[in-house]
Amino acid sequence: MLNDPLRYLKGVGPQKAAAFESLGVYTIKDLLYYFPFRYEDRRNLKKIRDLKEGEPSLMEARVLSVNLKKIPPFVRKTKVKSIFKALLEDSSGQIQCTWFNQHYLADIIKKGEEIIVYGKPIRDGRYLAFNSPEYELVEKEDSLNLGRIVSVYRLTPPFNQKFLRKVIAQALAGYKQKVPDPIPYSIRKEYTFLNIAKSLEEIHHPSSFEDAEKARERFIFEELFFSQLLVYLRKAKHRQEEGIPLKVDNEVVKKIRENFSFELTPSQEEVLSQIMSDFSKSYPMQRLLQGDVGCGKTVVAAFAMGICAKSGFQAALMVPTEVLAYQHKETLDKMFSGLGFKIGVLTSSLEKKEIDRIHEALAKGEIDIIVGTHSLIQEKVKFKKLGLVVIDEQHKFGVAQRALLPKKGEPNPHCLVMSATPIPRTLALSLYGDLDLSVIKELPRGRISPETKWVLEKKRKDVYKFMKDKLEEGRQVYVVYPVIEESEIEDLKSLEEMHEKLAESFSSYKVGVFHGQMKGEEKLKVIKKFRDKKIDILVSTTVVEVGVNIENATTMVVENPERFGLAQLHQLRGRVRRSTHKPFFILLSKGSLSETAQSRLEAISSIDDGFKIAEEDLKLRGPGDFFGSTQHGVPCLKIANPLTDLELLQHARTHAFHVIKSDPHLEKPQNKCIRDNLDFWFK
Ligand code: ADP
Ligand code: MG
Repeated sequence: MLNDPLRYLKGVGPQKAAAFESLGVYTIKDLLYYFPFRYEDRRNLKKIRDLKEGEPSLMEARVLSVNLKKIPPFVRKTKVKSIFKALLEDSSGQIQCTWFNQHYLADIIKKGEEIIVYGKPIRDGRYLAFNSPEYELVEKEDSLNLGRIVSVYRLTPPFNQKFLRKVIAQALAGYKQKVPDPIPYSIRKEYTFLNIAKSLEEIHHPSSFEDAEKARERFIFEELFFSQLLVYLRKAKHRQEEGIPLKVDNEVVKKIRENFSFELTPSQEEVLSQIMSDFSKSYPMQRLLQGDVGCGKTVVAAFAMGICAKSGFQAALMVPTEVLAYQHKETLDKMFSGLGFKIGVLTSSLEKKEIDRIHEALAKGEIDIIVGTHSLIQEKVKFKKLGLVVIDEQHKFGVAQRALLPKKGEPNPHCLVMSATPIPRTLALSLYGDLDLSVIKELPRGRISPETKWVLEKKRKDVYKFMKDKLEEGRQVYVVYPVIEESEIEDLKSLEEMHEKLAESFSSYKVGVFHGQMKGEEKLKVIKKFRDKKIDILVSTTVVEVGVNIENATTMVVENPERFGLAQLHQLRGRVRRSTHKPFFILLSKGSLSETAQSRLEAISSIDDGFKIAEEDLKLRGPGDFFGSTQHGVPCLKIANPLTDLELLQHARTHAFHVIKSDPHLEKPQNKCIRDNLDFWFK
C-alpha cells in the first residue's frame, strides 16, 4: 500500500506524477518522506500598523477595493500581461497588495471578503505594500497554510507550496498509521524517539518547533543508521569475495627502495606494510589512501605495483590527465629500473597504431604496468591478468568511471584509491566505510611551506615586481587564470589576452601558455620546455592543478582566486611545495568579494594543512556540494548532514555495527524492520 503510486492521491494525475518523479518521489511512502527544508511561523496575526519592511508577516484584513488592469499585447513593454491590486484594511490601517499575471484572482478576491495574506512587506514610496503575497480566504477553516507552523518544501514546476502541503496532508491522513517503524524497538526506546506516525505528522505539521526538531532528529538518525548498515553489509559481502594472493618479493621491495633515492616517511612505511598485508588476505584489497598534496602517495603506489608485477599480474594506474600520466611513467621507470618490468602509457592522443599496439600487448600480458588516462576504461581495453588497480586523484573521476577499471581484471583485483582532498577520519570512516582507510600524515622532510599572500588588484604592480625579483633569482613562475569552461572559446580567448599582456610586461622573459584544450603532444612539449627552463612564466588554467611537478617553479600567482574552490586552491598551492627554495603562493583578487569568497580566501591564507582545509571546505560548502555525485558509492543523504550531525552519526554507526555483527544476514525477527526498509532508503 505504501508503495502505491502517487496517482492514488486526489489531485495527482500523470503530469503531476511525472513532476514528482523528477523530485525522486515515486510512491506514497516517498511522499511521506519528502521532508520540508524549513518552516514558517504563521501562528501570529499582525496588525497592518505593526508590519515592518522585509519582515515575513501574516495578517488578516477586509478587502476594501480591487482593481484588475489587463495590458494588451501591443502596449506591453514587459512580460506583464495583467496587474491585480487589492486594497486591504484592518482596525489599524490599510495596505495595498499587487499580483502580476494572475487575472483570475479577480474571481477569488472580491470586495468585502475577509482574507489572510502572508508575505514580506516592501516599501512603495511612503507606504508599505505586498507584492504577490500568499493569500487565503478566511472562510476556509482548518487551513494548512495559515495560523500554524507551516512547512516549506523544495518545489519543481508546476507545484506550489499550497499544492504540496495539500497532497502531503492527504497522504498523511490516509497512510501514516500504516508505516511500519524501520528503527528496531530497542533503539527507539533507548533514544526515546517519537514513533513513526507521530514523527511523520510532526515533521510535516509541527505542533511546535521543539516537536519538529524531535521528529527531524529521529529521521536523521534513521537515515544515518541505514547508511551505516549499508556500509557494513557491503563490507561483509566484500570480505567473502575471493582475492588474488600476491606474494611480496622482498628482493623487489629492496631494489625499489634503492632506486628511490630517499627514505620513506614513517607514514609511507606504515601504509606500505598495510598494503602488503592486504595482498596476503583471502579477499581483495579495497583501500583508500588519503594524504595531502605532495605527501608521496605515488611512491607508495609504485611499491604496490612492483610487487604485483613481480607476482606475475598486471597493474594499472589511472590518472586524470595526460601530463600526469607521463610524469608518473617517468617516476615508475626510475623506481623500477633494473627490474625488467614492461611499462606502458595509454592516452587518447597517441596515434591509432600505437593505441592498437598497446591494446594488444595488454591483452597478451606483454605489458606489466600501464599508466593511463580515461583511455584505460575504454571498452576495447582488455587485460590478460590484471591484479591491481590504482586510481590517482580519485575525486577527478565519477563513481561509475572508478568502478569500470577493476571490472577489467581477474575476478576481484586489488584496488587502491588515492585522494589528495582528505576528509576527517570519523567522517571518512562513515562515508567511505566499506573501504579500509590509510593516511599519510606528514610531508617528506625538508619541504618548505609556501608563504601565502592575499593581495588586492590595486597592488598588481607590486606583484609583478615580486615576480621579477624571483625570475632574477633564477626561479620560474606560474600564473593561474580562472577559465571555467575550457571548451568555451570566449574563455580561452581571455586566457590568451592574459598571456599577451604578461608577455608585454615581462618582455625580457619567455612567457608560455598552457590549457586543457591543447593537443596532447603540445601539452607535453610546453611542460617539457617549462621543466627545461625554456619558459620562465607559465600562464595556465587549472590543468596544472593535478600533479605537475616542477621544482624550480616556486611562485604561483592566482588571478581571480575568488572563482576557485578551497580544495582547488590548496591543490594549486601544492604545485609550489616541491622545491628547496622558499615558495610563494599569491592570490590576486578584486576588492569587493562575496562573503563566502572572502571566507575561502581567508581560510586558504591562514591554513596550510590539507586535512584542515578539507574540513573548512566542508563547512563552507556543506556536504551535498562537497561530496557531490562523485562520492564513493555512498547514498546521497537527504536529511542528515554528516558534519553537523556528527554525534548522531557516531551513534548510528555503533548501532549499525552491532546489528550486523550479531545478525549479518538480518535474519532475526527484531531486524525484519531493517531488512524491509533497506531498499527504501537506498534504491
Ligand atoms: P602526491 O601525494 O601528491 O601524489 P607524489 O607521490 O607525487 O605526491 O610525491 C611528491 C614528490 O615528493 C615527488 O617528487 C616524490 O619523489 C617526492 N617524495 C615522495 N616521497 C618522498 C620521501 N619519502 N622523501 C623525499 N621525497 C619524497
Ligand atoms: Mg599525486
